[in-house]
Amino acid sequence: MKNYLCVLYGEVLIIIVCKLPHTSYDLIIIGGGPAGLTSAVYAATLEINTFLITKDLGGQAINSTKIENYKGFDFITGPELIEKFRYQLIHSHYIDHLMSEVEKIEPVEGGFNVTTSELNKYFTKTLLIAIGLQPDSSLVSHLVELNERGEIIVSPDCSTSYQGIFAAGDVTNTFGKRIIIASGEGARAALAARQYILNLRKRTGIKD
Ligand SMILES: Cc1cc2nc3c(=O)[nH]c(=O)nc-3n(C[C@H](O)[C@H](O)[C@H](O)COP(=O)(O)OP(=O)(O)OC[C@H]3O[C@@H](n4cnc5c(N)ncnc54)[C@H](O)[C@@H]3O)c2cc1C
Repeated sequence: MKNYLCVLYGEVLIIIVCKLPHTSYDLIIIGGGPAGLTSAVYAATLEINTFLITKDLGGQAINSTKIENYKGFDFITGPELIEKFRYQLIHSHYIDHLMSEVEKIEPVEGGFNVTTSELNKYFTKTLLIAIGLQPDSSLVSHLVELNERGEIIVSPDCSTSYQGIFAAGDVTNTFGKRIIIASGEGARAALAARQYILNLRKRTGIKD
């Protein structure tokens, strides 16, 4: 998306095409563990206008001293695997991202407002929650259905009980808290979010 900055210089209006910080997205991913980082890479390849907000890059996987069950590697440490995820995010499948904590999600007309701990506010049409094993459910408990363990209940396409909110990884009620499962769910959730955005555009007739 191009941004235009208009500057009045005397009586001459100068229009500069530049990259201003966006505050409006099609998809905001919350959480930068295996689920969030994989969904970010998928969102980049699917060309979804996406923003990743996360407290850290890596999540729990950064604490794994040895991973012996991730496809493609007989053995890799958590920090090594996350460095590969991070490299992919920054160098080959870039999307906008911010190291911060999301403190509030409010439904608004056409989507959601997301507020960070610095009180920055971003608008998004869809949300992907990937906040990990010990979720602070209060972030979404007013919106989506949770089970007795505080996990977000998801359908097979990672959609939740609230339209436009998807969830992936350890935060969901799906069985198996593993890196490869969280990553797979992140990919699925990004695909489902894209489908939702395309359907939304068809319904509203809005292209962008
Ligand atoms: C010690 C240890 C060893 C493990 N070893 C293995 C192993 O060998 N093999 C294996 O497959 N799995 C292993 N696991 C499990 C694996 O790490 C998890 O299943 C996987 O990390 C889950 O990924 P996730 O993205 O769903 O969540 P997480 O990795 O928990 O990531 C959640 C992300 O969300 C962010 N976040 C949370 N709340 C907010 C908020 N409000 N705003 C912004 N960001 C937020 C966090 O900072 C983090 O980046 C291990 C786990 C641990 C703890």
